[in-house]
Amino acid sequence: MNFKEKDTTYDSLYASFEERIKKLQKLPRLKEDTSIEEVIKEHGFSRRDFMKWASAATAMLALPANFTPLMAEAIKVADRLPIIWLHMAECTGCTEALLRSANPSIDSLIFDYISLEYQETIMTAVGWQAEQNLEHAIEKYKGRYILMVEGGIPAGDSSHYLTIGGHGKHGEQISIDASEHAAAIFAIGTCSSFGGVQAAAPNPTNAQALSKVVDKPVINVPGCPPGEKNIVGTLMHYLLYGTLPALDVFNRPKWAYRLRIHDLCERRGHFDAGEFVEHFGDEGAKDGYCLYKVGCKGPYTFNNCSKQKFNQGTSWPIQVGFGCMGCSEPDFWDTMGTVNEPLRDRLYHTAFGGLGADATADRIGIGLLTATAVGIAAHAAIAAVKPPKK
Ligand code: SF4
Ligand code: SF4
Repeated sequence: MNFKEKDTTYDSLYASFEERIKKLQKLPRLKEDTSIEEVIKEHGFSRRDFMKWASAATAMLALPANFTPLMAEAIKVADRLPIIWLHMAECTGCTEALLRSANPSIDSLIFDYISLEYQETIMTAVGWQAEQNLEHAIEKYKGRYILMVEGGIPAGDSSHYLTIGGHGKHGEQISIDASEHAAAIFAIGTCSSFGGVQAAAPNPTNAQALSKVVDKPVINVPGCPPGEKNIVGTLMHYLLYGTLPALDVFNRPKWAYRLRIHDLCERRGHFDAGEFVEHFGDEGAKDGYCLYKVGCKGPYTFNNCSKQKFNQGTSWPIQVGFGCMGCSEPDFWDTMGTVNEPLRDRLYHTAFGGLGADATADRIGIGLLTATAVGIAAHAAIAAVKPPKK
């Protein structure tokens, strides 16, 4: 491109975001009594912190820096999009990680601001009243709400293993009913995205991923738990674009799950140099060497943990000396082997041959999952058999 030429692609994107925000502004507010500025101020954040958050969120979605004010405007209208959050078979760890922080980040405070119309962990209603609330929210916000589902879903003849509430409805049916009128559907966490620990062999309750149960497109936001920024970023993407993001073959947003843990790891230099921790607590561990030989599954796992980190951006597992367990991959309980041992013979999932990272929203649901198993021989497997560097 000629340097003097104007980049009209971003101009039109900017204009479409402005249009989208204006449209959302016209929708009735669901929370008249507060603003995002007030919510974050109550928790000690300044306007400057808010703009820093907007700037980071803009970069996270790979948008140019001049989109930052738009990001700040977009979050202000987030309260126009009601959210229905269902719990299926799970440990509630995703909710806990997002909402129960002693020192909440701006990302988790966004969930104080948006309109969570139904969320069993934090709502006061129980029993019949809770069921009524769910039915009421679905009816009232038909076609407008975002459905977020946490947990695997016992399905088919085994659906009774998840029987909820006074009417004794099965989780499978509740998910189907709630998905019917949803504007967008996010599977939050690995259980909802891929079945999770409930679906680990022998899968006694026939637990399934949300995408196997409902017949609408599902955006998977896996992780055990998923990083809060991956949840909020997916929400912000939908707010700004009004469409589903570009997805990889496992229906994960590419902006968050495009690269391997191994690609983004701060210990990667040690891996390439053949410098490995041989045993926890040895000299290599003290020097921050690569954790591959003590079981790190980073070479096979797509996620952005090293960039987004956990606990308000404090740290992430590899930073504190423990390998990645592969939690954002399908069937990781069954396929990632023993926690503290390397997978010497496993191949990388790969983007080669157009199979790894090219699915777009219109290809959601197409049975591509098995296709990604082809791969190149794992660099890690070769490195693992090298003698440790003295
Ligand atoms: S194997 Fe694990 S610790 Fe080593 S470089 Fe890769 S991701 Fe990092
Ligand atoms: S480092 Fe690996 S196991 Fe840990 S949260 Fe990230 S993807 Fe999951």
